[in-house]
Amino acid sequence: MDHIWSAITREVDVVTIAALADPEFLAEANAEYVANRTGINTNPGGTIISFEKFPKGTISDATRKALDLENGGDWPDVEYFSQDAYASTNDDYLLSAPDSKDTFDHPVVNPNWLTDPRDMEVLIAAFKRLRQLFKPKVVQPALIGGEVYPGEDVATDAQIEANIRRSADTVFHPACTCKMGMSSDRMAVLDSKARVFGTKGLRVVDADSFPKLIPGHPQGTVYGLAEKIAYEILNGN
Ligand SMILES: Cc1cc2nc3c(=O)[nH]c(=O)nc-3n(C[C@H](O)[C@H](O)[C@H](O)COP(=O)(O)OP(=O)(O)OC[C@H]3O[C@@H](n4cnc5c(N)ncnc54)[C@H](O)[C@@H]3O)c2cc1C
Repeated sequence: MDHIWSAITREVDVVTIAALADPEFLAEANAEYVANRTGINTNPGGTIISFEKFPKGTISDATRKALDLENGGDWPDVEYFSQDAYASTNDDYLLSAPDSKDTFDHPVVNPNWLTDPRDMEVLIAAFKRLRQLFKPKVVQPALIGGEVYPGEDVATDAQIEANIRRSADTVFHPACTCKMGMSSDRMAVLDSKARVFGTKGLRVVDADSFPKLIPGHPQGTVYGLAEKIAYEILNGN
């Protein structure tokens, strides 16, 4: 499992981290930070992160039911995050190798993103919600012009879907390749103490061990899992 993202880009009339590309601004920011520990250098980027469980009617009842059944009902459907960056098609990430036997060519890795129609339904809904974020009057003074990417002419569900298929990229959260689960589960590799079924003295303790990917950033959960399994090992389990 992995998380993928797709973005809307707007030009804004406020100072963002992109301004640090200007050497003069950068020098001033560095001086301010060194002198007072204040200013733009205190900002790690991606200042706003939020999670949402969609309001009723945003996605179909069937998908709502399927997601709640899968995730227990209290997980968010999507995460929204802001970046001081120009996001577009992400084409440069997608190195598609030619048909070649040259070992120096990059391999083609197909993670099968967006093969479940419910994932696409959720992403289309999230895309429309994201556009709503730019609608309130209070936001208008911060915006310059219209939508830079993908642009307002991407309007119908089919156009939004095509854009998402073209631009979606990983959030770098691949996980769950050695799933923890019941021995009766054919996809499970580990028991609840992270021991590999059918072996002795072998555990997998990392993001691969997750039975499913949490609806957020996984690093903290990797630490939590490691603490838990270390405790089990120390207690002779
Ligand atoms: C660019 C990027 C940004 C991210 N941002 C965030 C974020 O903001 N918040 C968040 O929560 N998560 C973030 N993540 C995800 C997070 O980093 C991973 O989910 C997490 O590190 C996974 O932990 P892990 O222990 O499973 O694997 P890893 O942290 O990848 O650890 C695997 C370790 O195994 C070592 N290794 C590999 N092969 C061998 C070998 N043969 N012998 C010995 N050692 C080996 C590697 O060197 C590595 O140290 C980000 C990931 C990336 C790539």
